[in-house]
Order: sequence, then structure tokens, then C-alpha cells
Amino acid sequence: MTYLDVVFDVPAPQIFTYAQDPKGEGSIGKRGLAPFGSRERIGYIVGERDAPPGDLDPSRIKAVRRIVDKEAIFRKQDLELAEWVSGYYFCSLGQALSAMLPAGRRPGEYPAFSDEDMAETPPELSNEQQKALDAAITGGPGLFYLYGITGSGKTEVFLRAAQHLLDAGRSVIYLVPEISLTHQTADAIKNRFGGTAAALHSGMSGAARLTEWMRIKRGEIRIVVGPRSAVFAPADNLGLIIIDEEHDGSYKSGNTPRYHARQVAMRRCATEGARLLMGSATPSAEAWKLMADGGIVRLDLTRRLSGGTLPAVTPVSLSHTEGCLTRQLKEEIRKTAQMGRQTILFLNRRGFSYFYRCPDCGYELMCRQCSVSLTYHKSLNRAMCHYCGYQTEPPRVCPQCGSVSAGYAGFGTEMIEEEISKTFPDLKIRRADADSVGKKGRLQELLGSFRAGDFDILLGTQMVAKGLNFPGVGLVGVVLADTGMHLPDFRAAERTFSLIVQVAGRSGRYFPDGKVIVQTLRLQDPVISRACALDVPGFFNGELAQRKILGFPPYSRLIRFTVRSRSEARSEAAIQRLADLAGPRLPRDADALGPAVCPIGVIAGNHRRQLLLRGASMGTLHGAVRGILQEYEQKKDSQTYLEVDVDPVSLL
Ligand code: ADP
Ligand code: ZN
Ligand code: ZN
Repeated sequence: MTYLDVVFDVPAPQIFTYAQDPKGEGSIGKRGLAPFGSRERIGYIVGERDAPPGDLDPSRIKAVRRIVDKEAIFRKQDLELAEWVSGYYFCSLGQALSAMLPAGRRPGEYPAFSDEDMAETPPELSNEQQKALDAAITGGPGLFYLYGITGSGKTEVFLRAAQHLLDAGRSVIYLVPEISLTHQTADAIKNRFGGTAAALHSGMSGAARLTEWMRIKRGEIRIVVGPRSAVFAPADNLGLIIIDEEHDGSYKSGNTPRYHARQVAMRRCATEGARLLMGSATPSAEAWKLMADGGIVRLDLTRRLSGGTLPAVTPVSLSHTEGCLTRQLKEEIRKTAQMGRQTILFLNRRGFSYFYRCPDCGYELMCRQCSVSLTYHKSLNRAMCHYCGYQTEPPRVCPQCGSVSAGYAGFGTEMIEEEISKTFPDLKIRRADADSVGKKGRLQELLGSFRAGDFDILLGTQMVAKGLNFPGVGLVGVVLADTGMHLPDFRAAERTFSLIVQVAGRSGRYFPDGKVIVQTLRLQDPVISRACALDVPGFFNGELAQRKILGFPPYSRLIRFTVRSRSEARSEAAIQRLADLAGPRLPRDADALGPAVCPIGVIAGNHRRQLLLRGASMGTLHGAVRGILQEYEQKKDSQTYLEVDVDPVSLL
């Protein structure tokens, strides 16, 4: 008699033992439908055994109803990787397996577009590119970083490195950020590698994704491109993992398990003898420090290759400006249009909002509990918080400096669109933000149309910041650079910096006189001025010194506990209990920050509390957390929910 060990996509860490299904098809790596509680659930078979575990009464063992897969979907290595994810990120094995092969959205929701100027025949590599490529592919496996300015031809080096490993009979995983880049790069890869390539992206249906997954597992596909979860692709004889735009926030999962693709990639490369090649114009602080320490080999690309140079970036003070656009920015928009070129206006703020600010001192009216700016609702004359619902009557004068100029300013894309249309009735402007392009490939259509030169000004949020390549763009305007700078998160400066540098990189890719105007309320801020100087080393010198003093990553490791509950008292009690459990268990080189109310204290009626554990090494921190969680689970309050985030990237 065969018994099957099965895990489910539930938080419970147990492995459940079932009897074999009636047809006897169950085996390791397949999924089966099994009775679970009062219903049936799909589970993952992770073990087979001849006898049930000793402590289990054989007469009470249920059987798996039926097996879902003809062929195992997970290999032994995949199960081992899932074990590792489960241990590292404190999730169940079932949750880890489920994250490896996510179900996917309905088809057609993904904006697909192609990049026509991807060269059909590969260009000859520049000396810099060749040097970087040689370094990345010779010698034993290791960690490499292509640190190259925007437009310096990183993609071509990635493609050549992939080619090299494929020629050597190895397989390749090519990770790209979520949203815009996936299809651009996927097309480039399909052009280059044809039928041996496949994309695994979140726009695919679960069935389509599974089909590709199986083709990868059988070795029919040897190069896989996709976002975060593609790092789990069951590629045999893995030779190379590429992480394009390594700094991108989408590599960190926002749900359990909250894994970081870079961390998983490092693990896979170490256990499977593969090399890791990352790249960005704005590396993460973690990567920058590793490069400085020699843990990652840095490969430099310093020149643009399509006839462009880095643009001139001019910071402009937004203080004492009525409306959203300074005189300088307006003048440049006019000049750019006269030269027959296009403008991108970038706003680091989703949707549209009126927010209260003081033009004299930069003060912004924030929610008391949430550290988010309050949105003005004109009809009610109330300032309201979008997270927790807090509301108040807006002050008449600036609470910080007493200025009477303080008041509501519109900084949403809608407001800017209006202002542009009034100022330049002859120019065509279109918006790309979550509200305007939400669904059904509208982003694709919009970007394609902009690329074709159908309109003059593209106005957008994060969507237009990522590695898009528009040949006709001569001007980038950052409408307000400092949104986000005040957030209570030690990575706020890093994010602001890299966003400005990345957006600036969209200008002047194909000609030498591209321009960037950065509007700011903090002209003197070193983060803003270094971003405008595109001075990455300068920024990290300052930033890393600061992090070292404060003891934040990359000079320490963090594990964050967040509890939430409808009841404030329960939330409070739960976090206090975690803090009490942590106290005696923390190693000497670790400490606890908090417990505290989360910066966004209430979301959708849930009261949020956090405890941040900080340690010199992940190893000892892990041990402590395991002990804390074991104890915590024994007397858990069923009305509070605990979230564990290892290496959190957002502390809001
Ligand atoms: P990055 O990813 O570094 O921002 P891209 O890979 O998008 O830069 O390259 C920028 C442009 O340079 C692209 O249009 C690309 O086709 C072109 N390019 C890359 N390598 C070469 C080369 N060796 N010779 C000429 N053009 C190149
Ligand atoms: Zn003020
Ligand atoms: Zn609030």
C-alpha cells in the first residue's frame, strides 16, 4: 500500500498523509485533489511512503480522490527549492510551491507590445560591451553586475551572455520587471533565440503558463523570460540567471511568501552551479555595497550607443509657482516641440489628487496615523486620508511656517493635463496612468502611438519610468521629484534617487542634446541634486554612510512582523506578545525596533502594528524568529493576522 505526503496552499506547516488515489496515479511532484477539512482541495504531493507515519491511525487515513497531472510538474530540485523558500521566508511548503507556479490572470489582461527597433542582426559589440561580456562568461560561476548608464546597451550584453551559455548546452532564466519590460524583452529574445525561448508572464492564463512550464521542464525550452516568479522555472542544467533592472521593486513579492527574486536567484545559482548576471543604471544599495566589498564583480558600461549622450538635467525650484509647471519647464516644452521632438512628463504620484502644501517651506498636510498626504475633497471642504478615512478641516495658514500661501494644489495627472492644454492649445497630450489605461492593452496602444509620433506629450506615472525606449523624446519633465521623500521608510531616498535617474534616462537616447527638467520643492536636498547630476557613486557614498550610522540594511538584516486586526486592542496585544517572545530569544548582535503603529496605521478597518527585528546576520535572526513563531502559534488569537516579511523592502 502506498501513502502520499501532501501539502496545501495554506499557512499551516503540516504535511498530510493520504492513501493513494483509486487509479494509483499519485507520485511525487504531481497535484492531487484531496479531502481537506469539510471540502476538497488541490494539494501537492511531496513524498511517497509504504506505511503511514507511526502516530497516525491507518483506519482514519483518507484517500486522494484523483490526480490532476499526468506527469509530475515539480522535479526533485524544485521541491528542494520550495523547502528552502519555506524555511527562509517562513511560509508553508504548500505556499512556496504555489508561488513557484502561480495561477495567473485571465488571458488578454496583459498589455503586450513589441519593440520594433530591436536589431534583427545583432550589432557588433562596443569595446566596453565586449569586455563586460568576456568577464561575465569566463571563469567559474559567480555574481556579476552590469552597471551601465541608461541606454548603454545592457540588453545586448545580456543576450550575448545568454547565447554563450545556450551554446554550451546550458539553460538560461532572464528576469525582467513586471509590466512594461516583459514584452519588449520577450520579443527581443524570441527574435534572437526563436523556438527555444518562452515567456512565463503574469498575463498568461494558468493553463498557458503550465504548458510553458512543462515544455521548460522537458528541456524543449532552454531560455525563459519573465517577471519575478520565472526565477522558479524548472530549467535543467541551469547556466545563467539574468536580472535586468535589478533595483526594481517588483522583484519582491507582495504576498506570502514574500520572496525576493534576487535572493532566490542567488540560492539557485549557488546550488546549481550557475552564474548570476544582474544589471541596472541605478543598483540597489544592497548590490552597490556588495560590489564595493567585492562580493559581486562590477562591469561598467559608460557610453550610450545609439548616437545619444546622457541628457543635461536641470533642477528647478517649484516654490512660488502657481500651478504645476514652472516657467522653465514650459519654455522647454515649447522649444522641444519646435524642434519636432517629444516630451515625457513624469509624476511620481498615482492617480490624481489635490494635496495641501506650503509653497514657502514645503510643508505637506499628512494624515495623523498614516503618514500619507491627505486628499482634498472640495465639495466637503475636508481633507481626507485614503487609507484610514481620517478627515479634518484644512488649515488656513501653514502650520509649520505660518505662510498664508499654503493651500491646495493639484498635482494629479488630470490637473497637469488641463494646465498643458490651456498653455499649449496646439500640442497634443495624452495620459498614461492607472486610471486612464487600466485594462485591455490600452497602455500598449498608447505607447505605440507615442513612439509613432502621433502626439507630442506623454504624461504618466511609474508606468512611463521603466526602461522604455522612445527615439523621439527630447525632453523629460519630472513634475514633482520629492513626493515620497518624506515617507517613514529608510529606503525613501534611494527610491526617489533611482526614479529620477531612470526617468531622466528616457531623454536623448538617440541624439546628444536631450534635456531633463526636475521640479522640486527641495532644491538644496543632496539626494535631489545628486540625482540631477546622475551621480550614482556620490549618492551611495552619502546614503551608505547614513545607513551605517543608523544600522539599516545593507549593514544589517531585517525581519518584520506585521499584525493586523479589526480590533485595535487585539492588534496591540498580539504585537506586544511577539515583542515579549522576541526579547529573550534575540541573539546578542540583534535588536528589536518597536512594537509600533505601522506608518500606515489603519488600512481598510484593520489596525496595523509592527515589530522590526534587526540583526547582523540572517542566520542568527532566522533561528530566533523560528523560536518566536513556534511559541506564538501555540496561543494564537484567531482574530489577528500575522505577516512575516524577511528582508522587507517597504516599511509602510
Ligand atoms: P540599456 O538597457 O543599457 O538602457 P539598451 O540595451 O536599451 O540600453 O540599448 C540602448 C540602445 O543601444 C538600443 O537601441 C540598442 O539597440 C543599441 N545598442 C546596443 N548595443 C549596441 C551596439 N553594440 N552598437 C550599436 N547600438 C547598440
Ligand atoms: Zn510653510
Ligand atoms: Zn490615515
